[in-house]
Amino acid sequence: MSTPGSYSNDRAAWLKGPGHRCSEAPARGKRVWRLVLLGPPGVGKGTQAQLLCDELGSCHLSTGDVFRAARSMEMDKASPAMVTAIECMVGGKLVPDLTVVNLVKERAKCLRCVGGFLLDGFPRTAAQAGSLEEILQSQGVTLNAALYFELPLEQLRTRLSGRRTCGRCKAVYHVANRASAVAGVCDTCGGDLVQREDDREEAIEKRMVAYNLTMEPLLTFYAERKLLMRISAAGSPDQVFTRVKVALGLPIHE
Ligand code: AMP
Repeated sequence: MSTPGSYSNDRAAWLKGPGHRCSEAPARGKRVWRLVLLGPPGVGKGTQAQLLCDELGSCHLSTGDVFRAARSMEMDKASPAMVTAIECMVGGKLVPDLTVVNLVKERAKCLRCVGGFLLDGFPRTAAQAGSLEEILQSQGVTLNAALYFELPLEQLRTRLSGRRTCGRCKAVYHVANRASAVAGVCDTCGGDLVQREDDREEAIEKRMVAYNLTMEPLLTFYAERKLLMRISAAGSPDQVFTRVKVALGLPIHE
C-alpha cells in the first residue's frame, strides 16, 4: 500500500497561487484523470486522494489546504478576501462561494495540467459546481467522475476527532486507524502532527450542519450529468480504495 503523502509534488502553484511553480513536472503519456471527491468532513477524502494520487499521478487539489497554507504562511500579506476566508474556516463556517470560486479561477492552470487533478473540498455547493463546470469549459477539459464517499454520522464524528495532519507535508493520519510510527511525528517528512482547528468539537458540529444543507443539491447536480459514483467509506482505507478502483475500472493489484 502507498504511504501517506508519498507523492512528491509540492503543489506550489495550487497552494501558494498562480505566480508559483510546482517542484515536479506532471507525468505525461499516461491516461489523464480529472476527478471531484465529495463527502462529509472526516469521511476520508484526503486519504483516498493520496492513494489515488499515487495510483493515477493526478495532483491532489484541496481548497481547505489553500486556506490553511495562507493562514500559516502569509496572514499579514493575505488579501481581505483571504482574511475573510480564513476567519470562516477557523469558525467552522463555509467560505462564501464567490471567494472560493475566485480562488479556483486564479488557479485554473492547475485544472488543465496534463497530470490531471483530484479536487477535494471543492465544489461544496451546487453554485460552486456550476462555476467549476464553466471554468473547466473555459480550459477545454472535462470531468471523468464525481466520487461521493458515504458514512453514518457517528462514525464520522469518531474519524474527525482522531484525525491528525502533518504541519509540513500535509499527510493525514488517525490516532486509532492510521497512526504514525512515532506518536505526533510524520512518517514521511518528520514534521509535527497537529489537530486541525476545525476538527475540534465545536467546529465539527457547525461543519456538519453546513454540510447537510449543501450536499443534496450538489449530488443532484452530478447525478443529472451522469458523473456521480457513490462509494461506501466504511472499513479501512485500502478497502475503500478497492471500491474506488472497481468503480473507476482500474486494475486491482493483489
Ligand atoms: P476542508 O479541508 O475541505 O474540510 O476545508 C476546511 C475549511 O475550509 C472548511 O470547513 C471551510 O471553512 C473552508 N472551505 C474549504 N473549501 C471550501 C469550499 N469549497 N467552500 C466553502 N468553504 C470551503
